[in-house]
Amino acid sequence: MQEKMTIQKNSSSNQKAKKRAASVPYLTCGTQKALETIPSEEDGEPPPVFITTENINISNIPKDPEEAEPPGKPGVNPECNAGIEGKDHLAVESLVVTEPDIGLLKQKTYALIGASKNSDNFRSRFFPWCTRSEWDDWKWQLKNRVTNIKQLGRLINLSEDERESLNSGNGSLPFAITPYYASLLDRDDPMHPIRRCVVPVTSEQKRSFGESDDPLGEESQSPVPGLIHRYPDRVLFLATTVCSVYCRYCTRSRIVGSHERQPFCSEHWAQAIEYIKRNPAIRDVLISGGDPLTLSNEKLEYLLASLRHIPHVELLRIGTKVPVVLPQRITLSLVKMLKKYHPLWISIHFTHPEEITPEVAEATGRLADAGIPLGSQTVLLKGINDDVRTMTELVHGLLKIRVRPYYLYQCDPISGSSHFRTSVEKGIEVIRGLRGHTSGYAVPQYVIDAPGGGGKIPVNPQYVIGREGDFLIMRNYEGLIFRYPDPGDQINRDQINPEQFNTGFESLDNEHTHLHTRLEEVIV
Ligand code: SF4
Repeated sequence: MQEKMTIQKNSSSNQKAKKRAASVPYLTCGTQKALETIPSEEDGEPPPVFITTENINISNIPKDPEEAEPPGKPGVNPECNAGIEGKDHLAVESLVVTEPDIGLLKQKTYALIGASKNSDNFRSRFFPWCTRSEWDDWKWQLKNRVTNIKQLGRLINLSEDERESLNSGNGSLPFAITPYYASLLDRDDPMHPIRRCVVPVTSEQKRSFGESDDPLGEESQSPVPGLIHRYPDRVLFLATTVCSVYCRYCTRSRIVGSHERQPFCSEHWAQAIEYIKRNPAIRDVLISGGDPLTLSNEKLEYLLASLRHIPHVELLRIGTKVPVVLPQRITLSLVKMLKKYHPLWISIHFTHPEEITPEVAEATGRLADAGIPLGSQTVLLKGINDDVRTMTELVHGLLKIRVRPYYLYQCDPISGSSHFRTSVEKGIEVIRGLRGHTSGYAVPQYVIDAPGGGGKIPVNPQYVIGREGDFLIMRNYEGLIFRYPDPGDQINRDQINPEQFNTGFESLDNEHTHLHTRLEEVIV
């Protein structure tokens, strides 16, 4: 790995860079020297990125106003891990990072994502004291999350069951909804899909057959706290336990929001980074949590920079629901920071088409414009998105906002999830309803995360249904049967008698060329 990621340019560029480096007072010597070798923005080059973990203490980097301490509690950063509870487990002063973002110093870009008509009406009705610019500020949204029955009862008409659940406080998973996301809930219908995802009910307190607190066996695959190493070449980095909204079916409900039980602190980060450094087979790091986009830009950048500095780490990924539940977080300065760490991919947790609002479209547009490939991860949920019509609407909406449907997850058997889980057959039915009926890009891969840590197992409708001699017998998306010439292979050999398919489809008797043509039409 090069000690710094930069581009050598001609001498006139270097002169400008030298001057520029000299004019940036907070840089330490090592970084000033590095700056002298790179082009400036005036040269038409993007701002440089240095990854030299020895040089600069992050506490020396001037803060973007957007990243300043939130009002109310000086010295306490609510979006850092456990900060919402008033503790700052990430003592970043002890961490070092280099971030000479000249562009940021020159131009403070932190334009807000504006509220849509729907959320503006909601704000006027339920948060009349909140100004429009406060509403558009992600820190205001985090600070003013709805976290108790009294607050929620002002916004929606709670059912008896919701009341009982909220009053009992028995669930292990905390309860929080951003005011923005609360604006999407139906006020009167407890079965409203988005409402069901975030408002607790008593069913989540009952453990059913096959359920456990850690169904994926993550704890047993965690070599250091906060790091899951399941596949040889990639790891899951649990950067925080904080989310802006707590989904009632969360696979990690054993840890999210539980700052005391598993506070991922700076020491844990250091251990995890060190582990990755010592394992050259790791080429892909997925940063998740909790939700890493609840971290401040500074802390997130520290992590990205530290990981990008590791020579064998090729790919960085972030898993988040923030663009959906807190789109205001996708500020220009966040995006500007993220784009320095390419190749960086983001997987966004979407659940229902009603989540695709103008604010969310603006947020994903900003990320996509920064060259960050976006994929969606969706959990199949009973009565919420487990029908072809809803899923089609969701995947079409995602493509329109430049998010590629990536995974459709079978809901994990987490304790208290039986009211959310569907049969696997239902998932196959949903995929069958998509494949061939819409663009291939719109069809996610349906997977089951194997209990106990077996990893993701793809589940697909059966399209190859047998063999007849040198032909594979296949069914297309319309249910039509085709023979494909495949003399060399043994797949399903002897397993099929075409007579059993009383299809009457003339294609069975057609020439191979015709079969090819039809198959090309089918496999889009
Ligand atoms: S945002 Fe993700 S990690 Fe957080 S509660 Fe929802 S599913 Fe769990």
